[in-house]
Amino acid sequence: MATPMFRFDPVELPPEALVLRAEVRDFLKEHQHLMGFSKSSFNRDFSRAMGKRGWIGMTWPKQYGGQERSAFERYVLIEEMLAAGAPLSAHYISDRQSGPNILRYGTEEQKQFFCPKIVAGELTFCIGMSEPNSGSDVSATRTRALKVDGGYKINGSKLWTSNAHRSDYAILFCKMTGGGYDETDRHAGATQFLLEMKTPGVDVRPVLNLLGEHHFNEIFLTDVFVPDDRLLGKEGNGWNQLTSELAFERSAPDRFLVLFQMLREMVRMAGPTPDKATAAALGKLISQLATLRSMSLSIAGMLHEGLQPNNESAVVKDLGTRYEQDIPVVARQLFPTEPELEAVETYVSMIARSTMNAPRLSIQGGTREILRGIIARGLGLR
Ligand SMILES: Cc1cc2nc3c(=O)[nH]c(=O)nc-3n(C[C@H](O)[C@H](O)[C@H](O)COP(=O)(O)OP(=O)(O)OC[C@H]3O[C@@H](n4cnc5c(N)ncnc54)[C@H](O)[C@@H]3O)c2cc1C
Repeated sequence: MATPMFRFDPVELPPEALVLRAEVRDFLKEHQHLMGFSKSSFNRDFSRAMGKRGWIGMTWPKQYGGQERSAFERYVLIEEMLAAGAPLSAHYISDRQSGPNILRYGTEEQKQFFCPKIVAGELTFCIGMSEPNSGSDVSATRTRALKVDGGYKINGSKLWTSNAHRSDYAILFCKMTGGGYDETDRHAGATQFLLEMKTPGVDVRPVLNLLGEHHFNEIFLTDVFVPDDRLLGKEGNGWNQLTSELAFERSAPDRFLVLFQMLREMVRMAGPTPDKATAAALGKLISQLATLRSMSLSIAGMLHEGLQPNNESAVVKDLGTRYEQDIPVVARQLFPTEPELEAVETYVSMIARSTMNAPRLSIQGGTREILRGIIARGLGLR
């Protein structure tokens, strides 16, 4: 893979995607009272309601509960949900990456067990990759799995695990102890497990974010037993599996719409006859949004054709998060105010939240520097 292959001719959405857009808008109106500032709210009832509509795992094979709908339809669904600030957290990770990784690497039994529950909005997964000193460099993981009778014994810890305290399962990334793997090979012995969070020896402790909220966690694993049938894929193949999981994570169209509500509020505040400087600043943000959307739709087109747009996804994530970090900066310049989290006025609390949220955007899912390294490698520059 070399040059990014974005197509800038407008992507024609198929008629069924347009029908779906109208259905999703109606659904969102019905659930208006649950909409918030961004997708990060966690609401199992909302996920179940989406499950009933067939909107989780909607591109998956029917035999595992999916609808076999197109990547374009999924794109439209997610776009509408994000723009509305729908509470997607209870199923978002399962839908975006855990389910697809199980479909790609899982056993028949695992696909039958996990996928229909995910599709119904009944199963929340978290991502057990990062550790202290092993975030960007996940291959430096120190969590170890030892083969024992009937399964594996796992010891170690994970950090920054979003929603671990509310999740049913984690896809846990470890390295094998023993097994004859070459210790000098950084990826040798890497293995993934489907870890049930209620397993004895799993201790989840909160880590508060900048907003003082409990979103992510530290997980301590002490002699945790995982049975053989919850090994995901092949022992020792964890590195390939993890990179495929990250590709699912980065190709989602959610990297530039998280602060859409803030943008909408800014347009509302500017009113119908903004001054020249305000119109120019908002016009710039909106035209950037249009470009990012067109790039993201182009990625949906590539996914639809069965391609793996890893480089293109890294480009959109890097540009998209920079764009989102610009939104509160522009807001502060155009409509200065004293940010206040608990303010009654929507704009004042939004600007506080978006400013406090901004740093995380270019860290989660791969930092800016790491993404640029990936892009450079894809372009043959390193
Ligand atoms: C909101 C949020 C949610 C998260 N959720 C999860 C989750 O659910 N599960 C999970 O496993 N992880 C999660 N993470 C963790 C996230 O993936 C890591 O924080 C991220 O990968 C960075 O790792 P680190 O914190 O160890 O920083 P480091 O890797 O120590 O990086 C520190 C700085 O050094 C730079 N750097 C590192 N290596 C290089 C290099 N080779 N070249 C150039 N620069 C480099 C980085 O870009 C960064 O600026 C989450 C993070 C956030 C912010």
